[in-house]
Amino acid sequence: MADRMTPLQRSRCMSRIRSKDTGPERSVRRELYRRGFRYRLNCRNLPGTPDIVLHKYRTAIFVNGCFWHGHEGCKSYVRPSSNTGFWDQKVQRNKARDARDTAHLEALGWFVITIWECELSPSRLQETMNKVESEIRSNRFRYIKEKAASRNRKDSFAKEDHLKRSETVLKTEESLGGTRIPGSVKSLSENEEGQES
Ligand SMILES: [Zn+2]
Repeated sequence: MADRMTPLQRSRCMSRIRSKDTGPERSVRRELYRRGFRYRLNCRNLPGTPDIVLHKYRTAIFVNGCFWHGHEGCKSYVRPSSNTGFWDQKVQRNKARDARDTAHLEALGWFVITIWECELSPSRLQETMNKVESEIRSNRFRYIKEKAASRNRKDSFAKEDHLKRSETVLKTEESLGGTRIPGSVKSLSENEEGQES
């Protein structure tokens, strides 16, 4: 298929990548707001500066243009007929960066949702946003569950650590031949025993 854009148009397009407030992004925001979600925009303190961030749901959303982010199998992602190598390289670089940002966010405990521009056409908007909404809501449950799990891990670690330290103090006292056990350690180890039984 022919490349319909002039170099100037392309470069204007290019300068709009990940720019704030694109049309598709506005549709997503409007829909989210209508469905009761509140969010922050272009969070620079997160990897990749996600377009929309829902802290309560630990969810970061990217609204991607199909061409620039190389939407696989999408008819909007048509390789330009001229300068093919140049554009391919640009798109591949964007894709690599997207993958890196997503991995980075996930490593920080964020859930990442990518919405493609072609999924936001008037005929597909509602269907797409229904899916996005249910994913965001399920992220909230996952987030709460993971938080509780990590709290439990921390608690049991602290308990183990405390026990070990108490034992060390007791052993030290024994090896010194003394019977003086600090009251705080004694009562703590008694407590631990009490909880075990
Ligand atoms: Zn697409």
